[in-house]
Amino acid sequence: MFFPRNLVCYLYDAMNLNQVFLHTGTNLGNRQANLRLANEWIEKEIGPIVQASEVYRTKAWGITDQPDFLNQALLARTRLSPFELLEKIQAIERRMGRVREVKWGERIIDIDILFYNDAIIETETLTIPHPYLHYRNFVLLPLMDIAPGLVHPGFGKTITELYANSEDTLLVEVVK
Ligand code: ATP
Ligand code: CA
Ligand code: CA
Repeated sequence: MFFPRNLVCYLYDAMNLNQVFLHTGTNLGNRQANLRLANEWIEKEIGPIVQASEVYRTKAWGITDQPDFLNQALLARTRLSPFELLEKIQAIERRMGRVREVKWGERIIDIDILFYNDAIIETETLTIPHPYLHYRNFVLLPLMDIAPGLVHPGFGKTITELYANSEDTLLVEVVK
């Protein structure tokens, strides 16, 4: 049966499900399959994905001598607290075979928490909103697909405004 998206959002709000924006990235193996598998695990372990951006291809950021990344932004609903959510995404990364080696190095899957409702959290293990999101077009462009008007709770700017102010010059393009 088909339900209009507004009705679905209303029901999720009524069920007190938190709104969480996630960002997935991969540059090893079958990258499209890695993103699909990550989405399946997210739906099983975290909650329903209510919106997904296009898949974008990006040159690696930070350490540039490695294969291109595929990236996607997701809006999911969850009952998990932010710290439970962090544990779950790390468990999914491990289950998918991610080995933590070099910071910003090659990886089968990376799942970052971008926003959790309008929470601002700054601890050693968890920072929300994600501290680099406004520097990265490979995060801002997918996010603009699904939430152009979303206001960053720290900066008071929309995703569209953050993208307009971004100085990132790496090429980010939709994968056809
Ligand atoms: P970057 O954070 O620059 O995107 P990365 O994703 O490669 O780098 P990881 O090695 O995946 O970094 O994660 C390092 C640590 O970041 C994790 O162990 C986790 O505790 C912490 N962390 C802090 N804030 C977040 C967040 N919003 N989402 C995911 N991990 C976070
Ligand atoms: Ca990351
Ligand atoms: Ca990460």
